[in-house]
Amino acid sequence: MGILEVKDVGKRFGGLQALSDVNLSVAENTCHAIIGPNGAGKSTLLNCLVGKLIPDTGSVLFDGQSVLGRSPHEINQLGISRVFQTPEIFGDLTVMENMMIPLFAKRDGAYRLHAVKGMWSERALVEEAERMLDEVNMADKRNMHSASMSRGDKRRLEMAMCLVQDPKLLLLDEPTAGMARADTNNTIDLLKEIKEKRDITIAIIEHDMHVVFSLADRITVLAQGTPLVEDLPEKIKGHPKVREAYLGE
Ligand code: ADP
Ligand code: MG
Repeated sequence: MGILEVKDVGKRFGGLQALSDVNLSVAENTCHAIIGPNGAGKSTLLNCLVGKLIPDTGSVLFDGQSVLGRSPHEINQLGISRVFQTPEIFGDLTVMENMMIPLFAKRDGAYRLHAVKGMWSERALVEEAERMLDEVNMADKRNMHSASMSRGDKRRLEMAMCLVQDPKLLLLDEPTAGMARADTNNTIDLLKEIKEKRDITIAIIEHDMHVVFSLADRITVLAQGTPLVEDLPEKIKGHPKVREAYLGE
């Protein structure tokens, strides 16, 4: 059994069946990519995993426990962290201040934005944040205003904010969208490093096939809300059904 087990999940928005019969099993300590054309339901599926949406049918088990009916915060506490399609960092805080938010949340079980003001007295947490910034090569940017950073650095910070919570499952929704090639390659290297160094499972939604084939151990192709094929990366390349879904062949 995988660390994440999605069974028969369906989700409807009004007249649109965004997801139907979604079955997905993600093995522990692997990187599982979910690919598919725009509108296939990839983000909707991710939202169902983190409690932002509640599926109409089916079940989602993480580490043997049902996530359905739990709040996003409770699911986060179970060990699932998620990087959004657009970076969700606090632009008017510095890199270091942003890092303190998930650290306070991990320690206190609640997000306390105001707490970052008094953070310098929290030596242990500051050191933990510093170690994490080091790991993502952002130590030199610790006092930078987050709003003024490149898209790549914002992503990197957001990833660090997730990783510092030491999640068992990291969910990434198009982490390289809108990035320059150099930033994309940096992100690939960072994720490879994380995979090697930590006990972590990664589920990644990604358009850039270079990123997918650099990282994924398995790939699920989602089309019109339902999994089309799931296989090893080398089997997905050139798969007739995948070509059909992407190219209309
Ligand atoms: P993907 O991430 O694969 O591009 P999405 O999951 O964002 O696709 O969207 C799947 C389908 O569901 C799309 O047709 C989209 O317009 C629709 N959709 C997504 N979220 C909502 C929502 N909150 N309300 C209504 N329709 C939605
Ligand atoms: Mg999406």
